Amino acid sequence: MVMSADVVIIGAGPAGLFAAYELAEKSSLKVVVVDMGRDVDERECPMEKTGRCMNCKPCNVMCGVGGAGGLSDGTLNLRPDIGGNLYEFMSDAEAWELVRYVDSIYVRHGTPDRLYKASGKQEEELSRKAASAGIEFVQIPQRHIGSDHTPEVIKSIAEHLRSRGVRFILKTRVEEITPELEVVLSSGERLKPRYVIAAPGRAGASWMVEQAQRLGLRIRHGPIDVGVRVEVPAVIMEPVCSINRDPKFHIITKTYDDFVRTFCVNHRGFMVKEHYRGYVGVNGHCLRDKKSENTNFAFLTRIELTEPVENSTEYGESIARTATTLGGGNPLIQRLGDLRRGRRSTWKRINSGLVHPTLRAVTPGDIAMVMPHRIVTNILEGLERLDRVIPGVASDSTLLYAPEIKYYAMRVEVDRTMETSVENLFVAGDGVGVSRGLVIASATGVLAARGVMQKEGVEWQA
Ligand SMILES: Cc1cc2nc3c(=O)[nH]c(=O)nc-3n(C[C@H](O)[C@H](O)[C@H](O)COP(=O)(O)OP(=O)(O)OC[C@H]3O[C@@H](n4cnc5c(N)ncnc54)[C@H](O)[C@@H]3O)c2cc1C
Repeated sequence: MVMSADVVIIGAGPAGLFAAYELAEKSSLKVVVVDMGRDVDERECPMEKTGRCMNCKPCNVMCGVGGAGGLSDGTLNLRPDIGGNLYEFMSDAEAWELVRYVDSIYVRHGTPDRLYKASGKQEEELSRKAASAGIEFVQIPQRHIGSDHTPEVIKSIAEHLRSRGVRFILKTRVEEITPELEVVLSSGERLKPRYVIAAPGRAGASWMVEQAQRLGLRIRHGPIDVGVRVEVPAVIMEPVCSINRDPKFHIITKTYDDFVRTFCVNHRGFMVKEHYRGYVGVNGHCLRDKKSENTNFAFLTRIELTEPVENSTEYGESIARTATTLGGGNPLIQRLGDLRRGRRSTWKRINSGLVHPTLRAVTPGDIAMVMPHRIVTNILEGLERLDRVIPGVASDSTLLYAPEIKYYAMRVEVDRTMETSVENLFVAGDGVGVSRGLVIASATGVLAARGVMQKEGVEWQA
């Protein structure tokens, strides 16, 4: 059966929801949102109760109304160049305006209006200290929804959309977008809209590549971020974490002129091991009711390959597989002092240090045996530079866990309105490589909706 709609949005994550929001508020177009996951009330991750991943298909953490992070504690990074880069598509002033607009919708639907922002003086002092060490302190105004409130905010947005006539088709996978822009559903039904906005997120990134290849969309590999997760005593990070919940420092390294950054700071948090197909990695998280004595953060080098090999994902995975082999199936752990001296760590050396690891399912080893020399050099130089801003961060006892690798989806080529090389096919969000976070994913959804309205001749105001 073929159903009609003006716009079909694939994916009910932030990108898809905000595209629907813009269309519902500012046009009379008939909008259908399709998602393979469940409604926000029905999303529950069994890990919360059992501590074990039950391999739900689709995964409740990544899929359903609210998308990835719909169950997370939802930190909104309110900057056009964090979690993506809106400056690629518009002027600085327009980009900030769009971020403020997205923020206002989140706040309207229950996000606490408390803004985490350092006072001018604190910010200035930290920026000056960082700059004198050749580091950029990236000041990010943030809001924090909180894991107990994220589903409420999502629910409020979805209810608003329903009240404005947006139809949701859930627990239904889009199998294919045809060259005629028919959307083929797993139920066997077909939708025949005038416009499609594909916002499939990370869970649909490989599906998107298949669609792109079949439809002849221009795509290219995105960069990867490769490095370690650093764990230090929380007291060392207290001065900067009291200024910013997730302080971000950007460094250009001396020897290689590479871009290195801190990412995802978990103050008084815990290290976690992550399993992928064929290799392991590390990550960090914070718990609301349980605090550790440590703080962890990712310390990553940006790698973008060009000819003859562009597949940065394959390169990252080969590093991760080597680390997994040397770790005997576990991530590696090493004291910074041992890395400096060119020797492996042992449990004896780690246990005698000042930092007690919050993850024990790791193998003491030598990160220099795993990571390319260039990345090891960046880690050593970068941490020593950071030590001038955060004294103690580069002490011999500092723990390094490897590998920490961030992959980004293939980038679909788009114009300023998110339209692809196939007419009337728009894209948005993380699954097509134009964002890496809630705010920019939402913003690209708004841009796609505005692109559709522009083509329809709908007059709208930002
Ligand atoms: C645990 C976790 C915590 C996070 N915390 C934060 C945070 O605090 N701050 C922040 O800025 N970012 C955070 N993120 C990242 C953030 O969630 C993402 O950047 C954002 O959700 C991307 O939005 P999106 O709409 O592009 O994609 P997604 O949110 O991934 O949504 C895509 C949707 O598309 C659906 N879909 C995919 N393919 C198909 C198909 N073929 N048919 C039908 N449906 C399909 C999926 O089911 C999914 O619901 C977190 C991510 C995770 C996983």
